[in-house]
Amino acid sequence: MSSRVRKRIGVLTSGGDSPGMNPAVRAIVRTGIARGCEVFAIYEGYQGLVDGGDKIRKLEWEDVHGWLRVGGTLIGTARCMSFKTHEGRLQAAENLIKRGIDALIVCGGDGSLTGADIFRAEWPQLVQELVQMGRCSKKEVEPHQFFTIVGLVGSIDNDMSSTDITIGAVTSLHRICESVDCIASTAISHSRAFVVEVMGRHCGCCGADFVFLPERPPSTDWASEVCGVVERHRAQGKRQTTVIVAEGAIDAELNPIKCEDVKKVLAEHLGLDTRVTTLGHVQRGGAPAAYDRNLGTIQGVEAIEAVLRAKPNTESPMIGMRENQVTWTHEVAEAIRRKDFARAMELRDPEFAEEYAAYISSTIVDTRSIKLPENEHLNIGIVHVGAPAGGMNAATRVAVRFALNRGHKPIAIHNGFKGLMDGNFEEMSWFSVDGWNAKGGSELGTNRTLPQSDLGAVAYQLQKYGIEALLIIGGFEGFKALQQLEAARDHYPNFQIPMVQIPATISNNVPGTEYSLGSDTSLNAVTVCCDAIAQSASASRRRVFVVETQGGKTGYLSVFGGLATGAITVYVPEEGVNLERIRKDIDHMRHLFKSDNPKRSLGRIVLRTESVSQTYTTEVLSQMYMEEGQHLFDSRTSILGYIQQGVTTSPMDRIRAARQAYKAILYMEEKAKGALGRTDDVRAAAIPMRICNDFDSAVIIGIKGSSVIFTSIREALRETDMENRKSRKAWWWSYRPLIDVLSLKVAHANGI
Ligand code: ATP
Repeated sequence: MSSRVRKRIGVLTSGGDSPGMNPAVRAIVRTGIARGCEVFAIYEGYQGLVDGGDKIRKLEWEDVHGWLRVGGTLIGTARCMSFKTHEGRLQAAENLIKRGIDALIVCGGDGSLTGADIFRAEWPQLVQELVQMGRCSKKEVEPHQFFTIVGLVGSIDNDMSSTDITIGAVTSLHRICESVDCIASTAISHSRAFVVEVMGRHCGCCGADFVFLPERPPSTDWASEVCGVVERHRAQGKRQTTVIVAEGAIDAELNPIKCEDVKKVLAEHLGLDTRVTTLGHVQRGGAPAAYDRNLGTIQGVEAIEAVLRAKPNTESPMIGMRENQVTWTHEVAEAIRRKDFARAMELRDPEFAEEYAAYISSTIVDTRSIKLPENEHLNIGIVHVGAPAGGMNAATRVAVRFALNRGHKPIAIHNGFKGLMDGNFEEMSWFSVDGWNAKGGSELGTNRTLPQSDLGAVAYQLQKYGIEALLIIGGFEGFKALQQLEAARDHYPNFQIPMVQIPATISNNVPGTEYSLGSDTSLNAVTVCCDAIAQSASASRRRVFVVETQGGKTGYLSVFGGLATGAITVYVPEEGVNLERIRKDIDHMRHLFKSDNPKRSLGRIVLRTESVSQTYTTEVLSQMYMEEGQHLFDSRTSILGYIQQGVTTSPMDRIRAARQAYKAILYMEEKAKGALGRTDDVRAAAIPMRICNDFDSAVIIGIKGSSVIFTSIREALRETDMENRKSRKAWWWSYRPLIDVLSLKVAHANGI
């Protein structure tokens, strides 16, 4: 849409506040301005729309500075009864017309979007009434015959049918996981049981012993179920018990299950010292996680796009995410009319069923129903390769526990392929991985040694320990390890076993997946660091920090970290850097800092992927800025280094780890089952029991949209840029331009 189009757009946040609303408003304001529009904040939700006056205020570019890292909503929200009345909406329409506002972007939950839809449908009638009543003149209403409304789903309950994920749900999960992790330490110390009440259903990633979810009601005899599980876990050596009760939990007969009921059962039946904790509003608050900052930003940008493209007869779209893609849907009203949220939610959140299955299969030692017949049991080797990444341990935990529940023997291989060659194997027990879902790094130990360095030793040790399936958890080194083993299958029959790689690296560069484990944990670590750096830069005024990120030859961390922290620009290997580019950036910085607006003098950050150039290093860039900035601005550097690996694994990485590990084990079982059986004689001849050498028995497991997919190593190689150690497909690259839009660069170029 060209810059000739000029609209006056209102934005409001409504219903319960959710982290990510501020990044959305920031993106709406800045994209709106960059596209030649005026954006008005409507304070206090629909109440501001009805009250008008100074509750409707124009926002300038700088007004939203620093909003990315603030939780809740800075433009306020309220429950507004009068907007539910015709008179209230009439007043709202009058206020909008009088201010010349011709479009409205509403960020809120289902109630708020229902209100928006009713308002839109009623608009022509409201306009007519205002004229008839003499409250607006014909001339005034002339340009407002049609009104555009765009919805964004901001809600910590991931409960809207038209989107896979709502703005705020992931941050809420961060707060839940942090709280449950904290509770676990006191529970372990006192050998206590905690019953924790939470909102939302994605809480399986907290590693609780039992979860009560409204979507998965237990039988009416849930007391026996929960006691059985807790007893089995305690028998394995657990000193703490955590039971999560999601709000609205019910049993199969729809009787509510309350925390106090569960506490009573644990205390009376098992004699456990049991405490109840209700997380309540803690789950709403705090700085948005990187995921919600970017979700809010991406959807905010898209909302402006939707407003600009709206035609008189287009219905109000709702912006959502499906399969990792931004979508516009027009079915809000219909979904809402159906009022069938629970069912819709099941359909729209395809990941939930798998997440839940992974949780059940790994957390509850109840092998009665899921154990395989003995002849299908496998010795499964698990090895970590390459640099540590969040989620490696979480994946190992689920793989070990699920394998045990199926009757397999999970065997940890310590210290990567080096350890494998040295025969550093250990049979894992259910308890040996307790607490690993939260732990960052690699508990097994990891390094960059590849099988190629001694394939014979690898084959020998696999044979010696009778390894019948191999799970490789690692990044590009893991990918290469899989490739080398697969390529050597003809020479080494011991490699003719199912082999699955779960990509785990902060660089997010492994072919076959949209997200590697650790990429989300790392993004959060980068975001936290950059927030601190940006704060320092702002305090010092007129300072530009050049922040160096890792990521190999992939700019994912810089682009998504830059979006999440409001970097003014990023230097990434995908586009490289040259003098011309640096000159333009310095020009842009001068433009920013020479302004009289005091907010423009606040410091800025630039993200630079370490490998982008050997000449324009972080230090060189910073010195160039210093030299050229002269009296306008100075510059400092910050190299994030290993901090980027993060400490605690993020909820998203835990969820992804659990799903992939669970499916990896199932995949190995399936491949082994379909493989050629051999006799014991053959085993004695140093050949595995089952020969498995189809091309799809050496695969990378990955996340694509909302699905878990498998790609054979041979197929994955076709999309691999071996030299630059990355996939040729980079879905995230399409978001790179947003950095320029949101840093005033585009507006600057357009003369705004
Ligand atoms: P959350 O998911 O956090 O509860 P929500 O958007 O569903 O958010 P609600 O309290 O249901 O929260 O709705 C917020 C506001 O939206 C209401 O106070 C009211 O102003 C408006 N609203 C809700 N339903 C309607 C409706 N049917 N007609 C008009 N306005 C409505």
